[in-house]
Amino acid sequence: MEYEAVIGLETHVQLRTRSKMWCGCANGFGAAPNTHVCPVCLGLPGVLPVANAEALRLTVLTGYLLNCEIPRFAKFDRKNYFYPDSAKNYQVTQYDRPSTQGGHLEFECNGSLARVRITRAHLEEDVGKLTHFDRHSGVDFNRAGVPLLEIVSEPDLTSADMAHAYLNALIELLVRGGISDCDMEKGMVRCDVNVSVRPKGSTGLGAKIEIKNMNSFSGVRRALDYEIPRQIEAVRRGEKLRQETRRWDDVAGITEAMRSKEDAHDYRYFPDPDLLPFTPEDAWLESVKAAVPELPLARKQRLMAAFSLPAGDAEVLKANPDLGDFFEQAATSFRNPKAIANWVINNLSAQLATSDLTLATLRFTPAQLRELVELVESGRISSRIAQDVFVTLFNTGEAPGSIVERQGLAQVSDTGAIGRICDEVIAAHPGPAADYRAGKIAALNFLKGQVMKLSKGKANPGLAGELLESKLKG
Ligand SMILES: [Zn+2]
Repeated sequence: MEYEAVIGLETHVQLRTRSKMWCGCANGFGAAPNTHVCPVCLGLPGVLPVANAEALRLTVLTGYLLNCEIPRFAKFDRKNYFYPDSAKNYQVTQYDRPSTQGGHLEFECNGSLARVRITRAHLEEDVGKLTHFDRHSGVDFNRAGVPLLEIVSEPDLTSADMAHAYLNALIELLVRGGISDCDMEKGMVRCDVNVSVRPKGSTGLGAKIEIKNMNSFSGVRRALDYEIPRQIEAVRRGEKLRQETRRWDDVAGITEAMRSKEDAHDYRYFPDPDLLPFTPEDAWLESVKAAVPELPLARKQRLMAAFSLPAGDAEVLKANPDLGDFFEQAATSFRNPKAIANWVINNLSAQLATSDLTLATLRFTPAQLRELVELVESGRISSRIAQDVFVTLFNTGEAPGSIVERQGLAQVSDTGAIGRICDEVIAAHPGPAADYRAGKIAALNFLKGQVMKLSKGKANPGLAGELLESKLKG
């Protein structure tokens, strides 16, 4: 019997706010332990939380990015449990009335479009961080109360590859929307996976097994590549899988049983009596909606349609939105956008990589790049010379036309001048000239190269080829 995997993901991302969810403490990274704390996030008695308006806005904006419904009533609940990193003995989350629900995300996976339904994206708070030393443990509450968004997908994913593609698309979307910086190294994204297997074609769900402790997307892929065959083998052996939580051991490359899975009622959820329900009004929702940017996949598709770019180019410009903006400013209403794309993706990226400049501090404008490309297209300079002009343009910001003028780089299309160089080259290389006359067509390229070299790249290459041919034949 064939089996298939059923995978759902719970992704936690840290919202990009200046302060924490319920207090004014900084939402920062890397500070000395317990320096971003106050009575509210330490859970001291007698203090009251105040919701962070920006966190609420980012949550709703995420809902719009993920095509979710935004309920007019949402509330905050306490999830009760004791753990040393949780000073309050509960975590505030949104249990049965989340701020967003019922959306979907479309993304590319192995060259085709995939769609995963989004159950919900809800707000919750982070807890502190434990560090275990030789003989004692320390707890740092800097992260306690940092706003997190938990994005829950429906179990629509069917492979490790698909889960990986979904995560990448989700992160790209959240970064583009300004929701989160999604810096994995700073722990801004964490992911839990629910996975079960079932006979291919059946609709029932097997025992849901949750895997925790993956700290990278490749970890998610590897954990699934291990876990799916493990479950299939177990089922084939006749074993009955139980609902449980397993831990991914990244070094050993295995998952291992951690505990049987808790049910929701174990947490004694109840509405937080200190927090008002969240009841957004239409005007505010409209203002949030107005901030929805063009989504990455939509942009890629538009770049391909509007500028006739190949998928590979559009992908690069999608993945680097600032580069994409630069391209669009240069290429809009230009007759050969592909030529501009080549300069942006190859030359501009390469120069930026080896320079201290960024797109924000660039010395030249998109219009100046277009001017350079126009000089090549119109035959005024050769593409070889254009490479040098570009470097000067990049370093100085001088207009391409002026660089060509000042350095005398214009292409020579004067038959007389190029003809004289051709004569010189034929005389200096009798061997290749004879080869060509004997039928070795490739010898012409060598001679043409010599003409270009002698003219310091300025000869019109097409004209040089024609003249050489007629002189050699004549
Ligand atoms: Zn605080």
